[in-house]
Amino acid sequence: MSGQKVWTTGAHLAAFGMLLARTNWDVPKHRGITYFALPMRQSGVEARPLRQMNGRASFNEVFLTEARVPHANVIGEAGGGWAVALATLAHERGLATARLAAVPPRGQGRTAREASAEAAEYAKTYEWYPQRAGRPDVVPSQARATGKDGDPVVRQDAARLAALERVARWNVERARAGRAAGRPPGPEGSLAKLCGSEIARAASRLHAAMTGAGAMLSGPASPLEGIVAEIIVSVPAGSIAGGTDEVQHNIIGERVLGLPKEPQVDVDVPFREVRTNVPRR
Ligand SMILES: Cc1cc2nc3c(=O)[nH]c(=O)nc-3n(C[C@H](O)[C@H](O)[C@H](O)COP(=O)(O)OP(=O)(O)OC[C@H]3O[C@@H](n4cnc5c(N)ncnc54)[C@H](O)[C@@H]3O)c2cc1C
Repeated sequence: MSGQKVWTTGAHLAAFGMLLARTNWDVPKHRGITYFALPMRQSGVEARPLRQMNGRASFNEVFLTEARVPHANVIGEAGGGWAVALATLAHERGLATARLAAVPPRGQGRTAREASAEAAEYAKTYEWYPQRAGRPDVVPSQARATGKDGDPVVRQDAARLAALERVARWNVERARAGRAAGRPPGPEGSLAKLCGSEIARAASRLHAAMTGAGAMLSGPASPLEGIVAEIIVSVPAGSIAGGTDEVQHNIIGERVLGLPKEPQVDVDVPFREVRTNVPRR
């Protein structure tokens, strides 16, 4: 198969990619998509890392040029990839608050050491993710360090942030309890993701307000060794990656609050006939 996909996290290190490809153009858009486990280490796959504002390169543009996928790597039914994708995304959103870290070696042998080194290399992709989450954990210490801990507005915003974080944690715990009871992940993942974006933005605003113009400086000699600047440039990513805030609002509106579905004009027409501004094959 041939094509291109932007923003693929960790593709430069991955052995497999989750690939959703349209395999049938003559059925409505939610059908005719197939979910594949794509072997990444082949000549038909090129991952080009994207350099980010914070200097890191966790995401990639992936180019497929006649890439091959064994038939056994189809996940679920051919043409039934939408349902598998929804399950994947519900799990991803449920993980919104999880921390990814390097795994210590389990054993002394070469295999254990190499596996641990590989996991450590992979974990580097995510080492700035705490900044992307806004670092609410360092708000109190920064308030003291910047001398803003007596400022009534900072105190009020910090208290609001702490309350929001506490509520978000209860939501995550409720989701975990559901998982432990054998229930599949549901729309609570969207609540967790949306809360995560809100918390990150609120924390970023507070860091900027407490630090002042120095928040724009990066590098080891700048506020919190450049972490404040990294928070400010990284936080917007969380409102897009894994599904935008607007899409989470829709899911919560429709699946939690039972509000009417948003109007859709193209759910019953073959994908080939869906109106678009790009030329169709
Ligand atoms: C930092 C980052 C990391 C990412 N990592 C990955 C990754 O690892 N793997 C991967 O596959 N993808 C990844 N993505 C892609 C990401 O999932 C998409 O960018 C995201 O889901 C939005 O889709 P889109 O870019 O097609 O925007 P669009 O869907 O075109 O949306 C454009 C705008 O329209 C709004 N919009 C769209 N539909 C609706 C609607 N129904 N109702 C209201 N508003 C709507 C959106 O909220 C947005 O503001 C990443 C993106 C970023 C920024």
